[in-house]
Amino acid sequence: MTSQVFYRKWRPQTLAEVVGQEPITQTLLHALETGRVAHAYLFCGPRGTGKTSTGRILAKAVNCTTNGKGEPCNSCEMCQATAQGRALDVIEIDAASNRGIDEIRELREKVNFAPNVAKSKVYIIDEVHMLTEPASNALLKTLEECPPYVIFILATTEPHKMLPTVLSRCQRFDFRRLSQTAIASKLGYICEKEGIEAESQALKLISRSASGSLRDAENLLEQLVTYYSYHIDTSQVEDMLGITTDYRVSELAEHIAHKDIARGLKTINSVASDGLDLGQFNRALIEYLRGMLLVKSGGEEALDITPEDLAQIKELVQGLLLEEILTAIKLFAQIDFRSSSSSPLPLELALVESLLPQEREEAILVKSGASHFEAEHLAQGSEPPHLEPDSPFEYLSTQWSEFVDSLRGMGSGGNLDAFLRSACEPVAIEGDTLVLGFYHPFHKDRIENPKYRHLVENKLAERFGTPSKVHCILKLRAKPPAAEDHLVKAVLEMGGRIIDTTKNSGEAR
Ligand SMILES: [Zn+2]
Repeated sequence: MTSQVFYRKWRPQTLAEVVGQEPITQTLLHALETGRVAHAYLFCGPRGTGKTSTGRILAKAVNCTTNGKGEPCNSCEMCQATAQGRALDVIEIDAASNRGIDEIRELREKVNFAPNVAKSKVYIIDEVHMLTEPASNALLKTLEECPPYVIFILATTEPHKMLPTVLSRCQRFDFRRLSQTAIASKLGYICEKEGIEAESQALKLISRSASGSLRDAENLLEQLVTYYSYHIDTSQVEDMLGITTDYRVSELAEHIAHKDIARGLKTINSVASDGLDLGQFNRALIEYLRGMLLVKSGGEEALDITPEDLAQIKELVQGLLLEEILTAIKLFAQIDFRSSSSSPLPLELALVESLLPQEREEAILVKSGASHFEAEHLAQGSEPPHLEPDSPFEYLSTQWSEFVDSLRGMGSGGNLDAFLRSACEPVAIEGDTLVLGFYHPFHKDRIENPKYRHLVENKLAERFGTPSKVHCILKLRAKPPAAEDHLVKAVLEMGGRIIDTTKNSGEAR
């Protein structure tokens, strides 16, 4: 827990100082100026958005002996007493505490006594949804018989848990999550006043992580100052926040939206090389993609995010089909990190696969037993090269899966087998060289690295004698062969033959 020094010290003291709730503060200011202050207000909204701060300002304003209208003066005895929490006629109740319940009962009795010194008696009841049913009923009775000098300000994060009869007696204001810009600008102000040097990118990162709660942002800034003293840079913020709020989640989502495999792979690898928890990263990514799905399907009300995040997501989904987002979510959600939690491979494969959907619709003609290389020729309408039944290539093709299995435990992550199984397939044998076709340049580069290539070549020599060399080529187009479809796979396993897989026009996708 932080001491909330910044939060308390930099609390707004006037309506004009309340950040990011202009429609509410404007309305309240107008009510104060025209003497039309209501008797019961309900302030709803997420934590840290200024509900109780606004309540206190309102309490000061109605009782201010200098101004009497509009903003409080903050210097008269009433304003000072209220700000310091010692004004007898401004009563704050925390409904979440046990004492809160007793205080409501007490309130019923005391509400009929006129204010001690102030014009109005103001009750600020925080977390009002936490009241028990009897206490809520007591509150309702009080609201119904409210003397003219009493003002209730009820604050809650969960208005749906309140009695409708209580709700209907209040003038309701919904406090919004603050925009990142509004939070960052308030943080910048605090830094300036406190003599903190902070990179603007660092403040942006704090603002983003606070999900619209100024209090959270202020507390985080205070924590950073406690840890790192008065100079805050981006990497310190990143260290403190960990991955859940890492900007690379939205960065990867952006690459997915722009169908940019190369950049997407770069992002995944930067996350992996920083030693971050990939499972956690994946969960955050799925959550982000879910946001995209909701926005694309018109269900954005279900999202509780800042205006900036919503705007970013809206922009991202513009060029996307609902099906494409759905495919990406399914592929990332299928990842099981239990076996190799430190390898970025599953994320890479999910990325590549989610961005190559068109190719699944390519017309691929596969005869039973034909290699994909052969299938490609068939698909192009040309004759496949003649293959003797027992050609070395055909033999190797039938042995390939077993060969790949034998590489288990090799490679830096111990998963060279999984890598090869998903990243490539044998394409041809040329002399003593096996040609491997890779679906993506990034994976091809990895096997071309002598460190990995030698592992494969040694194993090849050991198992087949010849070929004993590996040559890597790109083979983007034939990646998702029909045989990868789980239904087709099942049929093949039962001895079926694929005669013709013409364009299946995206059905079931
Ligand atoms: Zn005053």
